[in-house]
Formats: sequence, structure tokens, C-alpha cells
Amino acid sequence: MHCPFCRHTDSRVMDSRATDDGSSIRRRRQCPECGKRFTTVETAALSVVKRSGAAEPFSRAKVLVGVRKACQGRPVTEDQLALLAHQVEESIRGAGQAEIDAHEVGLAVLEPLRHLDEVAYLRFASVYQAFDNLEDFEQAITLLRVERDEGMGEEPRRGMPAGGQGASVAPPD
Ligand SMILES: [Zn+2]
Repeated sequence: MHCPFCRHTDSRVMDSRATDDGSSIRRRRQCPECGKRFTTVETAALSVVKRSGAAEPFSRAKVLVGVRKACQGRPVTEDQLALLAHQVEESIRGAGQAEIDAHEVGLAVLEPLRHLDEVAYLRFASVYQAFDNLEDFEQAITLLRVERDEGMGEEPRRGMPAGGQGASVAPPD
């Protein structure tokens, strides 16, 4: 590992520590040349393969951008968004693959987003699953209704009015 300060070609590991969830290791290093210290983080490489076949490193920030867009104007907090992105990354890394399709990232977003906000879910699904007519929306809404009816008797979801009514698809203002 090159020193980021003086570009010396070697550095010494002073301390290694795994993060609590075991998904990464932080190493405290010191440059024997200039004496400065720096930290490196080691995680398993996770590549996302796009439809074009090009691969890029998985980015939680990218997931956040997409989900935040879908949640515009919705009663969803930044904390909830961050938690969702964290859940998505965990479920993807939990699968233990080094490479996943971009499609699978989208799939991993849909489930937690549905629980967070149904309108945001429909927006995300409409882009991600390329809805191109009203029937596609109708089908997705019908599925949401079926699942909601099956879930009757559960505690009302956060952000949902009692009785589970009131979610509707409105055009973004
Ligand atoms: Zn140095």
C-alpha cells in the first residue's frame, strides 16, 4: 500500500480491526518514510453488472439516489432512506456473491421500499420495471391491495392511516 502523503511504496500495519458486522476490516497504517498515519478499509469486492455487460463497484450512494428520487414529496425521512440503503446492501452482500446483476439490486430495493411507502414503491417500480401503460400500474396496485388484504390483522404500517385506506397514486406535483 503506497503512502497517500509521500507516495512511498510501502507502509506498516499498526492495527487491524473488523467492523461489528464483520463485513469490513479497518487497518491503521504508518508510512516508514514520512511517519504519517492513515487508515484503509478492506471489504469484499462486490460488482454490479449492468445490462450492457459493464461492471462497476456496488454503490450504496447510487441506491440512495434512486430511492430518494422515488420518495420525493413523500413523508419519508433521510434516516429511513439511509436505513433502507443499508438493508439493501446487507441483503445483497448476504447473498455472498462477488457479482450481481443491476436487476437484482432493483429487486432488493422493491421489498423494503414497499413497506416504507407504497407510492414511492409504485414510482420506483414503474421506472425500474419499465411500466409503459395504465395496465402496468393497475396490476401493481392490485398486487399491493391483495397483499394488504392478506396482511389484515397485522399492526398498521408506519405512515399508513388506520384501516390501511388512503394510499392512492397521484401524479407528482
Ligand atoms: Zn509517507
